[in-house]
Amino acid sequence: MKIAVASGKGGTGKSTVSVNLAYSLALREKVVLADCDVEEPNLHLFFDAEETEKEVKVPLPEFDMEKCTLCGDCARFCNYGALIVGKDKLLFLKEMCHSCGGCRILCPADAVSETEVSIGRILTSQPSENLTLITGILNIGEIKAPDVIKDVKKAAEKITGSQITILDSPPGTACSMVETVDSIDFSILVAESTPFGMHDIKLAAEVVKERNIPACIVINRSDGQDEVIEILSEEMNIPILMRIPFEKEIAEIQGNGEILSAHSEKYQKEFLALFDEIQKMAGGEA
Ligand code: SF4
Ligand code: SF4
Repeated sequence: MKIAVASGKGGTGKSTVSVNLAYSLALREKVVLADCDVEEPNLHLFFDAEETEKEVKVPLPEFDMEKCTLCGDCARFCNYGALIVGKDKLLFLKEMCHSCGGCRILCPADAVSETEVSIGRILTSQPSENLTLITGILNIGEIKAPDVIKDVKKAAEKITGSQITILDSPPGTACSMVETVDSIDFSILVAESTPFGMHDIKLAAEVVKERNIPACIVINRSDGQDEVIEILSEEMNIPILMRIPFEKEIAEIQGNGEILSAHSEKYQKEFLALFDEIQKMAGGEA
């Protein structure tokens, strides 16, 4: 079962929910925790375990201007606007390239070859017997976050023996978030009870609803006055399954980079109960 933890914006407690859910579940079964927030991965900060590293590479076209006749076929074909062919030069905008390979295949002058370039890294570690952490890291200045996320998801699928993968999604609703929630079974939407929080989580909720992904809401830093999110929950028919209160003790534990469920049996049980409810909603056993 693949569960993505998403939020409309950064700083709402998405990482807290991902880490605590994975930690609690790993006390009873094998779990993969995948950090898909590849521009600012932070889940590894909660754990201390040796990591193995693998580069993420994508193919990019290379143009041999000795052979190129400037016919323009490649630019007409490229759906992503990565090629501009003028009277006397060809311009390749590599940031726009989606590595489809089309220009290489169709070039009548055999002027296009392919080279592999590194866009990021995947780190894998084993913080506990039952928990595998996979972290995607996008190289600074790179924009191909979805390609790194795809590799994080592939790496997660290769971990044997685990039936549960928790994917920590990038915040917001851009293509990185959409890539993370592609082909998942359930989404946890982490919200804050403010009008801004409601607006942001509504956008994320619309993305998962459009894709028919069952979802629930977890309210973080709840002060007990959660009306704005309760109204949204009713409007969008997405239940609120957990509220993490706004308490000094919780803030201190998390502020020290520690895991709430490791400190509190109460929260261990609450996160396990959250998972059991999710399993029921997703049509599995509980
Ligand atoms: S299709 Fe080939 S020959 Fe034509 S402009 Fe592109 S690279 Fe040059
Ligand atoms: S590989 Fe595809 S996306 Fe990239 S430049 Fe060629 S046609 Fe365009």
